[in-house]
Parts: sequence; C-alpha cells; structure tokens
Amino acid sequence: MLKHMIILLTTGAIAAGASLIVANADDSQFGPSSPFYAPSTLPFHAPPFDKIKDEDYQPAIEAGMDQEIAEIQAIADNPAPPTFENTLVAMEKTGQLLHRAQNAFGAVSEANTNALLLKVRADEAPKLAAHHDAIYLNAKLFARVSALYGQRDSLKLDPESQRLLEITYDEFVHSGAKLSDADKVELKKLNEEISTLANSFSTKVLDATKNGAFATSDKDALAGLSDAQIAAAQQAAQSRKQEGYVLPLQNTTQQPDLSSLSVRATRETLFENSWNRAEHGDANDTRDTIARMAQLRAQRAQLLGFPNHAAWKLQDQMAKTPDAAMQFLDALVPGASAKAASEGKDIQDLIDAQKGGLTLQPWDWNFYSEQVRKAKFDLNEAEVKPYFELNNVLENGVFYAATELYGITFKERKDIPVYQADVRVFEVSDADGKPLALFYCDYFKRDNKNGGAWMSNFVDQSKLLGNLPVVYNVANFSKPAPGEPALISFSDVTTMFHEFGHGLHGMFANTEYPSLSGTSTPRDFVEFPSQFNEHWALYPAVFNHYAKHYKTGAPMPAELVAKVRKAKTFNQGYMLTELLAAAELDMQWHTLPASAPLQQPDEFEKQALEKTHLQLSTVPPRYRSTYFGHIWGGGYSAGYYAYLWTEMLDDDAYQWFEEHGGLTRANGDRFRQMVLSRGNTEDLAKMYAAWRGKAPSVEPMMKDRGLKELSH
Ligand SMILES: [Zn+2]
Repeated sequence: MLKHMIILLTTGAIAAGASLIVANADDSQFGPSSPFYAPSTLPFHAPPFDKIKDEDYQPAIEAGMDQEIAEIQAIADNPAPPTFENTLVAMEKTGQLLHRAQNAFGAVSEANTNALLLKVRADEAPKLAAHHDAIYLNAKLFARVSALYGQRDSLKLDPESQRLLEITYDEFVHSGAKLSDADKVELKKLNEEISTLANSFSTKVLDATKNGAFATSDKDALAGLSDAQIAAAQQAAQSRKQEGYVLPLQNTTQQPDLSSLSVRATRETLFENSWNRAEHGDANDTRDTIARMAQLRAQRAQLLGFPNHAAWKLQDQMAKTPDAAMQFLDALVPGASAKAASEGKDIQDLIDAQKGGLTLQPWDWNFYSEQVRKAKFDLNEAEVKPYFELNNVLENGVFYAATELYGITFKERKDIPVYQADVRVFEVSDADGKPLALFYCDYFKRDNKNGGAWMSNFVDQSKLLGNLPVVYNVANFSKPAPGEPALISFSDVTTMFHEFGHGLHGMFANTEYPSLSGTSTPRDFVEFPSQFNEHWALYPAVFNHYAKHYKTGAPMPAELVAKVRKAKTFNQGYMLTELLAAAELDMQWHTLPASAPLQQPDEFEKQALEKTHLQLSTVPPRYRSTYFGHIWGGGYSAGYYAYLWTEMLDDDAYQWFEEHGGLTRANGDRFRQMVLSRGNTEDLAKMYAAWRGKAPSVEPMMKDRGLKELSH
C-alpha cells in the first residue's frame, strides 16, 4: 500500500498484495497469456524475463491499477465492522499484479530502456499519481482505518501490526484524508498549482542550464584543458550548431572544468554563468516560481495542520522535526567552515608562493585545490586499478565481508533469466544453509542505462505473502574489451559496497508486512545501511583480501594503500560546507510559515546563509536556491539534510563496530537482528538507539571527514 522506493530513483509504485482476481477484463491486451498474469513460477518468484516482452508492461500496469482499485473498494465496502484483519491486513494483500509488473518495469525502464519503455513511463506516471490519490482520499476506506486507529490501544496488536496501523493512518492524514470536502478541494488546487510550478521550474532550469554554457571562439581561453576535453568542447559547439567551443553547465554551482582552466577570466565567466543561470530576468528566471512555491507549500502545510512545509515533510522521518534536522546541521557548521577556511588558507599560500597576486575566489578554488591535491595527496588511478579487478572485488571483497559478518554465502545461478546478457544472478544462502534471497548485479555501462548506481527489489520480502526477497544492484562501470579484465577505480569499489549495503537491507528483511519491509524506510534512514557498508571496503582484513594485482596476485604495496586512505580526506571541509549551505537553504525556505510574505529570493538566500553562518565568500552553496532541483523539482524538499544525517548514522554505527572488535559474526548478527532485518517496523530513532546503546552522535562523522581536530 505504501510508496515503494527505488533507491536513488523514485517511482510511484505501490507495494504488493495477493489476489488471483483480474478485475478489468476490458484491457484487451491483458489476459492469461501475459507473463504477469500469475505469480512467477521461477525460484523466489523471480521475474520471467525470458517470457516478458516490452509490450507486456503497459497492459499489466493498467490492469494492475484497476485490480488494486477494485480490491481496495471491496475492503472499503465490506459490510462487516472494521477489524485489523479485514482492513489493514487486507490492504497489505492488494495490488499484487501491479507490483509484479511495476517492479520488473522499474528495472528495465531505468537500466535497459528504449523508446517504447520511456513512452510507457511517461504515460503511466500521472496515472500512478492519481491512483495513489484514489486510494488515500477514499473516504470510506479512511473511515475504517481511522476507527481502528482510535481503538489502537485496546486492539492488543503485536508491535509490528501496531506500527502498520499507525503508519497507514499517518499516510492517509498526510495525504489529506481528514480534511473537510471544501478543504479537500482547496488541497487539490494547491497540489495542482505546486506540481505545475515544479514542472515549470524544472523546464526553466533545464533551459537556463543549457543557455548558461560557456561559449568562446578563442581556443586560448580554454588553456589547461586536455586535448580530449577541448575536442569535447568543440563537439558540444557543433551539436548546438555553434562555432568554436562550448563548455556546458552541470547542475551544481561548481563546474568540473574549473579544476583545469588556467585562464582566470574564463573561470570567472564560467562560474558566473553557473551562479546566475536562472536570474537573468528572462523567461527562464525561476525567482518568482520558487517564491510562489515556498508560499504555496507553507499554505498547504497549514491546511494539513502543520506550522510549515518542513514540519509536514519530516513527520514520518527519523529526525521527526525541522528543529532536530537544523540542530544537527548547525552542529556541523563550525567544524566544517573552519576546515574549509584552513583549506582556503593552503590554497592562498600556494597562490602567493606562485606570486599569483590574487585573492582566492570561488572560481579559483578547484583550480588551485587540484594543485594542492597533486602535491599532498597524489594518487594515480592507473597505478591503483590493477588491484581492483571487478569480479575479485565482488567475490573476495563485497561478498567476503558479508560472509564474515553475517555468515551468508553466494552461489551463481546461470539458470535464472535476466533482462540483459551482462546481468549476473546469485543465490544467497543463510548461515544455516537455508535459502535467503536472490541477488542480481548489472555493473557495466550501456547507452540505454541511466547514469549513477542504484538498488531495488524485484520481489519484496513479506512473511504475510510468503515472499523471500529478490534484489538487484545497477552501476555504470566501464566494460572491458572481450577477454580483458574489468579494472575499476576505488570510487567504483566504494559504489559496489554502497549498493550492496542497500542489497543487504533488502535481503535481510524479515517482516510480516510488505509495506514495512527492507528498504521501505524514510529518506533520512535509507542511505544508512548502504553508507555503513562502504566502511568495509577499507577495513584491513577485507581490503587485503580483495586488493590484489590481477596478474600477479600480489597485495597492494603499503605506500599505495596509505595514499588511497589519505585521499579520502582531501577537500572535505569545502565539500561538507557547500552541502551544509544547500541543506540549510532548503530548511530555511521550508520553515517559512503560511503568514510570511512572498520572498525576494536573492535577499532571502543572503539572509538565510548569514543566519546559519554560511555566508562565506569562497564556499558558495552546492546549489543556489534558483537552480536547486532537488527541493523545487524533485522529491527532496525539506529533505536535503538526509544525505548528511545518514552519514552521521553510518559513521556512528561503524564506530560501534570498531569499539566491539570490528568484523565479527557476533557484531554482524546483532546488527542484522536489531537493524538490517527490521525495515520500518519500529520507530527508527528508537531502533537505532536500542542497537547503539545511545542516540547517534556527529563526532565520528567529523572524525571521518577529518574535521575532528578543529571541532572544539
Ligand atoms: Zn544509496
């Protein structure tokens, strides 16, 4: 019933339930011949990719929505008085067909897509959003849930069932189920206007970013770029039918080319283009759009009974309140900005030593810090990669760490059908030999795959539905020529451990209800198991087990290992400070009350940064308000802090392991039992504190970022 999360990418998918009734026989293309019609008969109910054709997804998704609405209506119309069983448990069983189709579709439409799949996704997105509203604004259904919620203390439910009732009730209230009919109309109007503005914001920023590219006909202006980068700039100009050279803008404030461009005037122009991209007073100026959105979001929060948008958004998160999130951010500011200031001083010293005769500005930072990096942290990728052969990293690193910690073992299965030939499947067995899960990995870059890396489920674990988890990881590592080894960077190694950490969260899930299973946790918790798992990549017993030369089998020389470790602390003050500035901007915008006047974004931004001690001349926010897509166009409003919050959790959790003997079965089993297997079955702050013995602290994060010595 609740929104299902694809890690890093969100879809509108709805969680599963069991039913063999196919409600809508009118969908002429959908019937018993569809590979989604009945549960898969493959091991673990794995998707039958050998039978699924691209044309099968859309009819199954549409029939799945129809079926779920019919199932939901039957629950709402049940003449029997509401019970936990006939309402909440029944709801958990709905939508099974939709879930089967959407889980398979979610994977292929992101990782192996084509024009047809993209069209299906565009067609279905608004229908799935309306589908969600049709369930959560169903007044008869809410009346049953609400009645049960009112009796929750006398129902004598087990803790997981109690949690399901509370979370389901909250989701209804959150979606507006408690409003009067007149207020529901008002809510719908606000939602529509907000989503129209969000769409308009995204369109404007896309154009503004495109138009903000740095263009020149003077090759000398690009001094410092490699021949390949210059060729790419020429190519970018040609594809825009322009003469000369073009450096397109990235989404962030800082631009990658700024670390190589040696002509200062070019750096300054490129930076200014980025910083002011959406503030030119033209059709792509987003200032009015965001000011209005902030106001409408505050009004919607007020309508739903909250003091501001952030309070509404954080109610179901681990942090729970904007104050908790802001206190956390505030605590990091002094250490981060002091470290950034010391990095800035190193850079200014270097400029002065070179008799540069200039004062460091934001557009100089990356150019000179790259020189500091080379001098202080020199790490040559080509030297390191031969020690990171992909298959060795997977089996002797990622899997090895999991076996040592949790006792699980892996066996490749070539008989399970996959959606693309590069995908591999492993059966995962528990320490006692019992089947635990299927794990798919799809690591190589393809033209028809989205960038980045992510994890999701084909099948969600649920004891109620009798399902074991089927999870997958996707990444974008360079594919070697046939017969050559896949040698990857340490950053890629870290990505493998990260995504596998999400994988473990999915595979260890051991809950009754699918809505509460595995990675179905709030945003400010879900990146915790993944980031936590990254720590094992550098843990000596694990690192030494996989970091071996692919030809000779020799371990990585100690000097090189030391460089890999040290490189992690480079520029951390800057990077943390720019993230903090963005996160604080997000919270400042979204704690405005409904009574606040329409804001002037430039002035508001300046004051918000001053107020949070982040108005720093050389460290601008990672995103400026006017092109901060996460908070205006994406799903991260009042949620950007979550990236840092989960970092606090993972460093704090790793410290517990360090204090208790590190990589041991006892430690792993306890963590699995108390955290990784629990999904969203209890209050996450309580769950964490019960495992850790106390609330999380920011100190280990500051130490890991190399800020500890400056934090007091
Ligand atoms: Zn992640």
